[in-house]
Amino acid sequence: MPSASQIQINASRLQQRIQELAQIGKIGETGVCRLALSKEDREGVELVKSWMQEAGMEASIDPFANLIGVLKGSNPDAPILMLGSHVDSQPYGGRFDGAIGVLGAIEVVQTLVEEGITPECNIEVVAFCDEEGCRFNKGLFGVRGMTGKLEANELERTDKNGITRREALVQFGCDPADFESYVYQEGRIGAFLELHIEQGPVLESLDAPIGIVSGISGPLWLTVEMIGFAGHAGSVPMSMRQDALLGCAKIIVALNELVRQEPGAPTVGTVGSLSVFPDSRNIIPEKVSFTIDLRDIDLRRRNAVEAELLSVIENVSREHGLTYTIREDTNSEPRYCANWIKQSLHQEAALMGLTPPELMSGPFHDSLTMSYVCDYGMIFVRCLEGISHNPKEYASPEDITLGTELLYRTARRVATEKGGFQP
Ligand SMILES: [Zn+2]
Repeated sequence: MPSASQIQINASRLQQRIQELAQIGKIGETGVCRLALSKEDREGVELVKSWMQEAGMEASIDPFANLIGVLKGSNPDAPILMLGSHVDSQPYGGRFDGAIGVLGAIEVVQTLVEEGITPECNIEVVAFCDEEGCRFNKGLFGVRGMTGKLEANELERTDKNGITRREALVQFGCDPADFESYVYQEGRIGAFLELHIEQGPVLESLDAPIGIVSGISGPLWLTVEMIGFAGHAGSVPMSMRQDALLGCAKIIVALNELVRQEPGAPTVGTVGSLSVFPDSRNIIPEKVSFTIDLRDIDLRRRNAVEAELLSVIENVSREHGLTYTIREDTNSEPRYCANWIKQSLHQEAALMGLTPPELMSGPFHDSLTMSYVCDYGMIFVRCLEGISHNPKEYASPEDITLGTELLYRTARRVATEKGGFQP
């Protein structure tokens, strides 16, 4: 373990900021709700912006609603070192998811400035807009925007109240007409580093405060709609029903069985959202729409589960007289961290007296999108019992300090070495 004198970042300042940000959109004692582009999100972004300025950066919000802080290097034309994560949250979220990556990155820059270190390249700290994806049912919006990867009709997606993303952006003060001129040119970003809580139980089980990510497993997101026929719950005989919810229930059970087929494999599948029409006690459900989230580090295995699931949906629909549609919302392949960044992380960690294990990430992160435009690396911080997307989410100040210190040392190394970005 590194001694206190080895820690160069200001750990108490970082903790103070984490606690202060957690007051915005606070739910209960320890939870937060800062839905993307909401009033609370805006308040959080403004607070974080003030800390960026305090740290010595110029900060602004781009048309995708990303908050970007810039620390000028001595060679501003060199490819940028980008650091960051997100400050939006789930509706029932915790204080650390995303937040430590943004606030940790600000701490990195502030420490550099206080140490009188001028980086070779510009360092940019970004709080990406809408990583979580819960409001408009599609995440990683800001990072996909700035890297030119938005899809058609994204602005017409609506939230539960019928507000489109376009309307929400405009309300936030962003103008979608400006999108194009704010996309980063190819090659402009040299590398991306993200600090994040693990959101899983692996580091805790290894008794390791921090870990180095080897890659992010690819999520497949589907929305399935099944349509049957409504009828009186008291009069239609069981054999004559076309009950869409019953069909859906069978698919939920089947998904659970399919992802457990291979013992020890990290395959996971979840139905997390369900809506029933007409949603009445004495009407046979006519229409059910539900989401499927399927992930694996091994794309072949994930594809095999998907194929089996599709045939289950087909068979169940036939059995119950249902029609169905499947919409693919997101389909990403596993993306691996750059070897040279992992090496730098391991070497800097060793200098701190640490030997962090390598692990895969099941959840996706802003890094997933960044991986298509530059090399990336990720540091994971242990979190209590692997709990996340839950107000009970917790990472200790000591562990966050170690993760941020490693981020600081690695960023300093990459940004101060001439030609620090290795192919
Ligand atoms: Zn996150």
